[in-house]
Amino acid sequence: MKILVLNAGSSSQKSSLYSIDGELPNQSPEPLWEATIDWAHHPGFAEIKVKTATTEVKEDIEVKSRLDIMAHLLSMLWQGKTAVLSHASEIDVVGHRVVQGGQEYSEPVRIDQTVKETIDRLSTLAPSHNPANLEGIQAIEKFLGTEIPQIAVFDTAFHRQIPDAAAIYPVPYAWVEQGIRRYGFHGISHQYCAHRAAQLLQRNLEDLRLIVCHLGNGCSLSAVAQGHSIDTTMGFTPLDGLMMGTRSGSVDPGVLIHLMRQGYSVDRLDRELNKESGLKGISGVSADLRQVMEAIEAGHAQAQLALDIYVHRLRSYIASMLASLGGVDALIFTAGVGENSAIVRSLACESFQFLGLALDSQKNESRPIDQDIATSDSKIRVLVIHTQEDWAIAAECYRLQSKL
Ligand code: ADP
Repeated sequence: MKILVLNAGSSSQKSSLYSIDGELPNQSPEPLWEATIDWAHHPGFAEIKVKTATTEVKEDIEVKSRLDIMAHLLSMLWQGKTAVLSHASEIDVVGHRVVQGGQEYSEPVRIDQTVKETIDRLSTLAPSHNPANLEGIQAIEKFLGTEIPQIAVFDTAFHRQIPDAAAIYPVPYAWVEQGIRRYGFHGISHQYCAHRAAQLLQRNLEDLRLIVCHLGNGCSLSAVAQGHSIDTTMGFTPLDGLMMGTRSGSVDPGVLIHLMRQGYSVDRLDRELNKESGLKGISGVSADLRQVMEAIEAGHAQAQLALDIYVHRLRSYIASMLASLGGVDALIFTAGVGENSAIVRSLACESFQFLGLALDSQKNESRPIDQDIATSDSKIRVLVIHTQEDWAIAAECYRLQSKL
């Protein structure tokens, strides 16, 4: 089965083509073809990068219409140096990452007219994401035809079973009736890591209590019990919870009221909280932890403060997930920071030594991937897992298609 995965964000789009024959493998095979479109590479131009086992191609293209660029990108699957198919019709199914599935979707779903209308309606909850996801769906219909099965895999779905006590904000009930509640995000990654953790630990997922720390540009935690998320740190939007690269995470809503009374516009608050806060806002150096760490080495006080806040919040929220679960079998680190920063892992774990959690510092510093980095006598396992969102989407497509 040839599965094309589209993972569209507001400013970039990743695509991968997987080929699965026979049994679904436990681990991600290398995609046959991988591509990214960076829509805002420089004003008016998009950058397309395509990689296959034998070739890498980079092109700068003027953006007259995003759909034309998507058409061009798709044609690179069967034309030119990056071709891995002889014809478009070899693609069996297309899977899309859809950010906001609201209260409607707790599972991946085959896309039809109703699903498209629902994703469109939910755009009010995710204005910079759902429209880009719909655009991808429409591009496939236009260029590969309406007959090709398309599947939506939602970033919120894994969190749909979070109990109301954890999901509902204590606000006037009329707000709750409008759909204002905690949806949670990064669900595809959290779910993938929970399954992979069970494999690595050779345990039944049903029997495990896990805390997944997805620490990338965006950061969120999930508390996973019996294979379901029962609590998470992101909320109504991906702005809630942990400190992130450029996003603030939780702030007292009273601060926003105060600033609005001073004349701050909604757009300014939106921009400053989403793009000018977090590691970037506090350090004044960068949203990238690597550069913040370099600045710390050079004695930069604000960079040190940024790391201190990042770690303080990470520890506090891990403790919060721990309380929701009533204990934990394994703590999992994933995404750019989680997979690469030994120092963040070690600082986060330091606070939980009183629970018998012991990190093996050599393993922690040995660039572990899909490994247990706790000491053999640690009461809590600590795993570093390379998240594979696109593969997880492909696997969901395979499962749904194989059921038909
Ligand atoms: P996204 O959330 O956009 O998918 P990633 O999961 O790729 O992002 O995470 C990107 C972030 O990971 C970078 O901004 C950087 O801060 C961090 N990162 C990547 N490599 C390292 C590293 N070796 N050490 C510390 N941080 C790293």
